[in-house]
Amino acid sequence: MHFHTFTLSHFHTFTLSHFHISTLSLMNLSLSSTSSALQKRGYETLVCASGAEAAEAVAREMADARIVGFGGSMTISSLGLQERAKALGKEVLIHGDPSLSPERKMEVMRGELTCDLFLLSANAMTADGVNVNIDGNGNRDAASIFGPKRVVYVVGRNKIVDGGIEDAIARVKREASPPNCRRLNRRTPCAATGECADCSSPDRICHVTAIFDRCPRRTSTLVILVDEDLGY
Ligand code: SF4
Repeated sequence: MHFHTFTLSHFHTFTLSHFHISTLSLMNLSLSSTSSALQKRGYETLVCASGAEAAEAVAREMADARIVGFGGSMTISSLGLQERAKALGKEVLIHGDPSLSPERKMEVMRGELTCDLFLLSANAMTADGVNVNIDGNGNRDAASIFGPKRVVYVVGRNKIVDGGIEDAIARVKREASPPNCRRLNRRTPCAATGECADCSSPDRICHVTAIFDRCPRRTSTLVILVDEDLGY
């Protein structure tokens, strides 16, 4: 097992020759295992002990980017990364900005497809590194597959499921889509009841399911796993 992706500052007793298991939580061991699985699937990875530490890592990623696109992630918003990008003088593309006209929103979504750095989270990820994202327009999935020069995910430990792809999809329909429908004022069964009814509502947000078997070949992608619950 490899532990080289741990942030050492949080594990003061860590040495290669004297590894003190008591300093690591079981969850961190699990994140390390998922990190290794992701690396085998072609991703760069980083394991962070907290959201704040992940935010610093993303800020470092912003250094070389002129245009930063945001995939509509509550995780990314909660870490203050939109404000961080603006403070760094980046051109930010946020299609979820409620002040945008419908025409401008379409322009922003298209711009996100070719930005320098695209930030998002996963709706769910299997412990062995398969990422699942369910999208309404497909713009977030599209930008995470091909187009941006660099894609960075921030994934809280709550997004990782023990089972396979079906469990990951079930997590999205149980934990992510209902609160997203409520947040976006969508009139769907899950917004009302909290449970997916595989609806045919015009407001349905589950139109495109992207399953990432491997890191997309031509998209440089970093997955930051965080030992903290983030987003939903
Ligand atoms: S299919 Fe419909 S009811 Fe089910 S999670 Fe998606 S929007 Fe909600």
